[in-house]
Amino acid sequence: MALLSTIFDILSAIAIYYTQAVPVWINYFLAAMYFMLFKTVTFVYFVYMLTIIIRNHRLKKWEIVVCTFPFFVEETLILTTYWTGFIYSFDANKMFVHGPLLFVIHLTSFIYIVLALGCTIKYRNRLTTIQRGAVYFYTVAILGSMIFQNLNRNYLVMEFATALSLLLIYLSLENPENYEDKILGTLNHLAFTEILSVYFEKNTPFEILGIQIQGMQYVSETFGVEQSAGIMKKISEYLAARDKHLKLFYISKREFALVGSLPKEHWNVIIKDIRERFKYPFTYNDMNANISGLFCMTAYPENVGTMKDLFDTINYGFVEAKKLGGDITVFASTALVAEGRREYQILQILKQALLEERFEVYYQPIYSSSKKRYKCAEALIRLKDEKFGYISPEEFIPIAEKNGLILDIGELVFRKVCEFMSRERIWEKGIRYVDVNLSVVQCMQKDLHKTLLAIMDEYHLEYQYIAFEVTETVAVVSSDMLHSNMRALLDKGIHVSLDDYGTGFSNTASLIQFPFTAIKIDKSMLWTAMESPKAMSALKHIIAMIIDMDMAVIAEGVETQEQADLLTEWGCHLHQGYFYSKPLCEELFLEKIK
Ligand code: C2E
Ligand code: CA
Ligand code: CA
Repeated sequence: MALLSTIFDILSAIAIYYTQAVPVWINYFLAAMYFMLFKTVTFVYFVYMLTIIIRNHRLKKWEIVVCTFPFFVEETLILTTYWTGFIYSFDANKMFVHGPLLFVIHLTSFIYIVLALGCTIKYRNRLTTIQRGAVYFYTVAILGSMIFQNLNRNYLVMEFATALSLLLIYLSLENPENYEDKILGTLNHLAFTEILSVYFEKNTPFEILGIQIQGMQYVSETFGVEQSAGIMKKISEYLAARDKHLKLFYISKREFALVGSLPKEHWNVIIKDIRERFKYPFTYNDMNANISGLFCMTAYPENVGTMKDLFDTINYGFVEAKKLGGDITVFASTALVAEGRREYQILQILKQALLEERFEVYYQPIYSSSKKRYKCAEALIRLKDEKFGYISPEEFIPIAEKNGLILDIGELVFRKVCEFMSRERIWEKGIRYVDVNLSVVQCMQKDLHKTLLAIMDEYHLEYQYIAFEVTETVAVVSSDMLHSNMRALLDKGIHVSLDDYGTGFSNTASLIQFPFTAIKIDKSMLWTAMESPKAMSALKHIIAMIIDMDMAVIAEGVETQEQADLLTEWGCHLHQGYFYSKPLCEELFLEKIK
């Protein structure tokens, strides 16, 4: 537009110079073309700025009308000036004469420039410093040159100022580098959102394969940042060369996305290829890095409907893929997103339940097969919601852990246990102590022991009536903290046992390293022992080992007489399970132990 308007400006100047030799309608025509195009530049500039600033937001009809109205008015005025002479005319000597409404078209330009400037200032945080600078420069240059040219009619500087400012805007706003990851040279997150939002807007179907690179943490910790960047670049180059129909984006730290529209079989081949390739190391500077990947696929419009859905879906796809061990490509869909929403909803329920202290504590008695009576019990949290019904702690505890809510929930549970025990004095009813579960997050708190002791003091509960259970994850994740907390608790005579032994790491080192007084064998171990002779042998020897190490051993998930008998035979006398009793509410629990 700017180029064309400049050409017409020159042609018009020439025509006016040779005015006597040229028919007057040509003068009108050239001047009209010049004015119309020149005014279009300002208008387009305004629309363009608006597009950048508001991005995906759609303007309402009336907003579009208001924005375009002045433009059409001025263009119409220019077009009709041949007949009206409102904007300009040529007098009897064929000299150019300003019309009475010339100020209108200057005014509209002025309005558009000021509007663009206003938007820029209002939404300044959506633009970079350079982008804002370009807008300010354009404003000053155009308005300045307008004034200058009006004072000095012989110098045609406005086109020059326009050209200069537009060049600057092009270089800053449309700088391709904005869309590129500096290190990898692939399209970045910004490019991803912009390109995909166009797909969504135009209903262009696409499939997307998300790949989260695993194992880079180790590479960067061991070999340094530069090496790890080099390896990432190799991976990125490999992925980019996969298929020329696919676009590669680096969407987040160590996360790539391949986007395109291909038949399903084709995608399967690509995924298989990449998985094959990931089995071999990537090499940079003679260093081999073994990495692996989590894969997740989704498609628009089948699986996702909006950009937000897309991000949620990919994220959940990765989480799901990780849960499944990485060997499975997760085809993420709305169902998976709904699960994500479920997590969100559960979080809200947890917050509310915490405010209303709606958590309940159930007690599952633990039977001693040597004493032939219930000896202790485990406190287990329960949450019932009107809409969701009963929510398993196995589902909500991890969510509470992610959000730190577990600290408050843990404290609430512990208060309830202390209150119940001192109220009912259940040690007088044969229950020696109650086990309370501690989450990893709780065990990462330096002052955990102080908090716990203070609550017991508050309810005047003797320390010996409480014991705690921690899982091995705690020992691995925050070994120092666990040590100091355990020591402080043991000093007061409070025992800590290791929960879920036989799942996860099952490290003998943690049995030796930490002063556990009891080990709880996970129910899965007992259950597999009933099915496989190998597992049975392992369980038998683990029980013997724990006894030999002078610790108590408790078996969980005892569901049959047969299991109970076998455990007793192997020397494990403490049994917890449905065979004896399910976890019970306070009332039923009291009845049971009676
Ligand atoms: P856990 O500590 O391993 O608790 C034992 C789980 O096994 C309980 O599930 C219990 O109901 C179940 N169970 C016991 N005997 C049997 C049996 O014979 N058969 C079967 N199928 N299951 C049996 P629950 O109550 O759903 O708790 C699940 C997990 O939630 C617990 O596993 C524990 O890790 C966590 N949890 C529960 N309450 C709390 C709490 O207050 N704080 C923390 N941090 N975690 C808790
Ligand atoms: Ca437990
Ligand atoms: Ca357990």
